[in-house]
Amino acid sequence: MSFTQEPLPFADNALEPHMSANTFSYHYGKHHVAYITNLNKLAEEKGLASESLENIILKASKDDSLSGLFNNAAQHYNHAFFWKCLKPNGGGEPKGALAEQIIKDFGSFEAFKDEFKTAGVTQFGSGWAWLVADSNNKLSVVKTANAGTPLTDGLKPLLVVDVWEHAYYLDFQNARPAFLSSFLDNLANWDFAESNFTK
Ligand code: MN
Repeated sequence: MSFTQEPLPFADNALEPHMSANTFSYHYGKHHVAYITNLNKLAEEKGLASESLENIILKASKDDSLSGLFNNAAQHYNHAFFWKCLKPNGGGEPKGALAEQIIKDFGSFEAFKDEFKTAGVTQFGSGWAWLVADSNNKLSVVKTANAGTPLTDGLKPLLVVDVWEHAYYLDFQNARPAFLSSFLDNLANWDFAESNFTK
């Protein structure tokens, strides 16, 4: 058994002009593929190849000798999740139970957007900004550095944006705030976030 890359849930040019086919050729086609290649090699070497991705992430996060495995496993998880957080003509607002919970926990959808964008802008260096739910379904925004993932804190990811430079440099150069606004306004897949919240 080895880990494989799922097809993108849309054509590689379907998110243009917000996220280009050129970005996907590197981000999906090179960066994500390299994490999977390294994950499979290291999981085999460490005798963990038959474990689930989540188990590998949790085990490796607690063992400094498995930091390389953790980084590649978590980056595979984070990227596979991120592609599903994108869709053509995305953005807008969530509906139903998630919309109600956002208003309860953040005050308004605008307040959530501000907090999410601030998390992404202020993550120094590489990382991720997330909307997560705890075991009581209380929502919060968290940021993680490098390959960090909220799974290791027992939090359920609902929505994520990649703020590594490779996610936006070809389309936005150094303008991370503009990339984050574009993600929220044009790309965020709230159907996916809602399905994560209710499952
Ligand atoms: Mn990335």
